[in-house]
Amino acid sequence: MKIIVQKYGGSSVATIEKLKNVARRVVETKRQGHAVVVVVSAMGNATDDLVELARQLSGDPSRRELDALLATGEMVSTALLAIAIQESGEKAVALNGMQCGIVTNNVHSNARILEVRSARLREHLGQGNVVVVAGFQGFTSEGDLTTLGRGGSDTTAVTLAAALSAEQCEIYTDVAGVFTADPRLVPGARYLKELGATETQELAWTGAKVLKAEAVEFASTNGVRMVVRSTFEGGQDTWVHPYPESSQSFRPRRAAVAGVSGRKDIIRINFIPAELADGGEAIFALIAKYDLISGAASSFGEPADVLISNLEIPDPAGFARELRSRFGDRIAVSEQLGVVSLVGFGLGSRPGAFCAAFRLLGQAHIPVLKSFTTRESLCFVVDVSRVDEAVLLMHEAFIETASPESIFASARENGGRKGMTA
Ligand code: ADP
Ligand code: ASP
Ligand code: MG
Repeated sequence: MKIIVQKYGGSSVATIEKLKNVARRVVETKRQGHAVVVVVSAMGNATDDLVELARQLSGDPSRRELDALLATGEMVSTALLAIAIQESGEKAVALNGMQCGIVTNNVHSNARILEVRSARLREHLGQGNVVVVAGFQGFTSEGDLTTLGRGGSDTTAVTLAAALSAEQCEIYTDVAGVFTADPRLVPGARYLKELGATETQELAWTGAKVLKAEAVEFASTNGVRMVVRSTFEGGQDTWVHPYPESSQSFRPRRAAVAGVSGRKDIIRINFIPAELADGGEAIFALIAKYDLISGAASSFGEPADVLISNLEIPDPAGFARELRSRFGDRIAVSEQLGVVSLVGFGLGSRPGAFCAAFRLLGQAHIPVLKSFTTRESLCFVVDVSRVDEAVLLMHEAFIETASPESIFASARENGGRKGMTA
């Protein structure tokens, strides 16, 4: 019997009515003759609400206890969904991260999965149960609960799909697939029928929160087929192919620009390691558990310029204050930053594209505070209040109106360096 892993995000299970709708879908899949594992997120904004409760007690709650708190969100939705499925006449069992055997490292709030001990899960499946698993959580070898970073239910789903050699991993959410930009922000965003894992991972990493970047990477390296669909509307979906280059059926046209994304979770930290007695080690130790977006440090006497994500920091403003009070004027901390990115296969090695994007932001008087490139993206750090505007602008210029090739060509004709400083 083929195994299907389905994941339902927070908005798909936000109310009892929505949970019943999910139960109906799950039961339908089961009755089509599949073994079904369902991964669920916490209901609606439950995780945010739990973070806020902890924040009311402490600006810097202990990560171990915070994980124990946040993990309860998924336990509630899992138990309720299993009950709803049982009411629909199918056998179902709810498992939390520990019962499901998801072993992680001990980096609380942002743990990585090390192993899945899937015997119990397989046993329940073998007995004809729909197995409903709490996303976003695991446990350490010491037996402590951990969470996998915000959006981590995607990671749970893909990991289980790989561990069980599932047919596919279906991600159900509140939009009908992956688009060239956030369809809630950009009216002209185009639906993408299929995408290579490389671009999808980069879109996710640069802010397209419909998927978690780590989950896409894991799916790609483990050969898991992913599909993103709406829980609410039928018809449309996006397939993410693990190995596009070798696939028989999928020949990516590889548009020069696959999409535009924005993220608003950036903290920038500047310091000169040589000015600190420990060479900056205490600062690096404080930021080590958070996702590094970009890091630059050249020789010992040169400034270090580091961007981290604040997503796993319960009180980002308090964290910035703490850094300032500990290191005084030897450190500069800027919060309230975001990044707008242009994403496309191999785009990071195209100076013409960089120049065109940089000039576009300059013409719109959006100050670029820093820029960097990765292999598949061109990234511009801007004030958080300008991110949406920058995304709309870049999407219009690079996807909606002009052929990207012509834009890049004209940037070259106008002269690279001149364009970049315009
Ligand atoms: P879930 O709770 O199902 O995990 P998320 O809120 O994490 O859902 O992700 C879905 C949201 O991602 C959508 O509501 C949409 O606003 C946003 N999003 C951002 N960029 C994109 C994109 N390129 N394509 C589709 N959705 C996107
Ligand atoms: N509930 C968690 C979050 O809000 C995990 C998830 O939804 O994937 O980040
Ligand atoms: Mg999500």
